Amino acid sequence: MSTPAEKEPVKPSNFLRQIIESDLDRGTHAGLHWGGAPGDAAHHAQGSVDPARIRTRFPPEPNGYLHVGHAKSICVNFGLARDYGGTCHLRFDDTNPEKEDQEFVDGIIDAVHWLGFDWKDADGRENLYWASNYFDFMYRAAEYLIEQGLAYVDEQTPEEMRASRGDFTRPGTNSPYRDRAVAENLARFRAMRDGELPDGAAVLRAKIDMASPNINLRDPAIYRIKHAEHHNTGSQWCIYPMYAYAHPIEDALEHITHSICTLEFEDQRPFYDWVLDRLREGGLIAPPQPRQYEFARLNLTYVVTSKRKLKHLVDSGTLTGWDDPRMPTIVGLRRRGFTPEAIRDFCERIGITKDYAWIDYALLEACLRDDLEGRAHRAMVVLDPVKLELTNWAEVFGSAEHLEDCTLPALPHAADGAAAPERRFTLGREVWIEREDFAEVPPKGYKRLFPGNRVRLKGGYVIECTGCEKDAEGHVTRVLASVVPDTKSGTPGADSVKVKAAITWVGAADALQAEVRLYDRLFTDPQPDAGGKDYLALLNPDSLKVVNAYVEPSLAGAQPDDKFQFERFGYFVADRVEHTAQRPVFNRITGLKDSWGK
Ligand code: ATP
Ligand code: MG
Repeated sequence: MSTPAEKEPVKPSNFLRQIIESDLDRGTHAGLHWGGAPGDAAHHAQGSVDPARIRTRFPPEPNGYLHVGHAKSICVNFGLARDYGGTCHLRFDDTNPEKEDQEFVDGIIDAVHWLGFDWKDADGRENLYWASNYFDFMYRAAEYLIEQGLAYVDEQTPEEMRASRGDFTRPGTNSPYRDRAVAENLARFRAMRDGELPDGAAVLRAKIDMASPNINLRDPAIYRIKHAEHHNTGSQWCIYPMYAYAHPIEDALEHITHSICTLEFEDQRPFYDWVLDRLREGGLIAPPQPRQYEFARLNLTYVVTSKRKLKHLVDSGTLTGWDDPRMPTIVGLRRRGFTPEAIRDFCERIGITKDYAWIDYALLEACLRDDLEGRAHRAMVVLDPVKLELTNWAEVFGSAEHLEDCTLPALPHAADGAAAPERRFTLGREVWIEREDFAEVPPKGYKRLFPGNRVRLKGGYVIECTGCEKDAEGHVTRVLASVVPDTKSGTPGADSVKVKAAITWVGAADALQAEVRLYDRLFTDPQPDAGGKDYLALLNPDSLKVVNAYVEPSLAGAQPDDKFQFERFGYFVADRVEHTAQRPVFNRITGLKDSWGK
């Protein structure tokens, strides 16, 4: 196959891949003509054979920011199109006449691009669509259904309609309006369209079967009255199509071959097919019509993905915004430091199934570590600093002001021959070390600094601890040590003195100050909103700890979004919103290994 798939590593198969491969083998869509843009059967018939071998779509409602669950849907739809020589459309589902928010539209476009996908055909033509552009066709199709005796205007009250629908154990009963004549239905539907009826006074319903075991087939509503302005069509319409009717039509006009959605829509599939079967029979859409396939939505532990709940966290001020680094939104994950590569890898690894499962947040973190492992530069930082003084410095080096140049590789495990960049920093009489790296009275097994013990300052010298200074409360204010001459890392004498530990440090002379934001999981419970739990009561009070840290001078050049491995602490990113050279701000993305709860 001469598809872009050749450049990709072989991917594990799944049921969607099998369906697509079998469709490609059988040539299910081989003869489809594409009119260059969405349209009805006549429009597409004028086009030539579609160069896209499959068409998929991602159809968000522009009413919020996308989250990690949407990332899965994006990776599935755009990923399959890419792998099989197809095209994936970005379609804004704006059939609800609610105020469209440009902020959300822009956010969705950014998120899909950032994840590494676009909606272009092979010839560069963009496939970004708005469902509201299909209102004319949807209306025409509704009149067609009425003419065929397949739809009727029901003027029961909403309560009557609910009561006559039945339930899982009882069949529904027919509406008294069900057997209206075609001409009367057409007249009433046009009265609805022309604004002669108030909201809720009538609906157009498909005429299928009030006794169907599938409640979705009990004469579902396909149009409702809503006197509301629409961002795209203004006041042209006061009736709007229902989602279950609009969606298959949107897919058909766009020649979607595989309409992939989450399992909640499984029960809607018979109606999806019903709509398209009828319109195909009437010659309004071209065969072969789109098919719907369902997969299990992503449920990720330690987060909530309901838009309503995420909005509450933002509006209540619990978090700083949609891009708070603790948000599971794509903008939040991005600001936290997650990479598109890691998110795509995560979506690939969780696979596509029909079984509900909770995916462990730790898997997302593992994907991030795998991505950054070989490419994030290392750096030393001190997050809980205490000063260490090398009291014999002047004696050994001839001056208390002397600074020794030190280096460490930025990528210690870089492949041989790779130009391994070096980090440069200096060691002087005073350095910052972690408070926990000194113990006046060492606990059992402690290998770091305590009076009489020797350790290596990583990349520098071996030092021997001689004691400490304390304030009136007994708080250690300064650790004292002497430098052991001729033990500098990388020199022939380096191994002459054996030590059991090397500790991280930064020199007081060239350290930079930085704000480091230690993010942790937003919730303490793996399934914070499952089973009626109150997610707000399960917020992790320690999801953010801010520390004033000292960091090594190589970080002076860090640009927003640059990622690093801070030795011993994990992966960090220069905050894309607030980091500046004057006021560095780093976010912890994740620790070096999964240590949650350990
Ligand atoms: P709402 O809660 O407002 O209905 P939604 O999450 O369904 O929001 P949409 O904008 O309708 O938002 O979603 C766009 C697409 O993303 C849909 O096809 C939907 O099935 C898919 N999607 C949403 N959540 C997930 C998830 N957790 N896992 C996989 N796909 C998802
Ligand atoms: Mg939805």
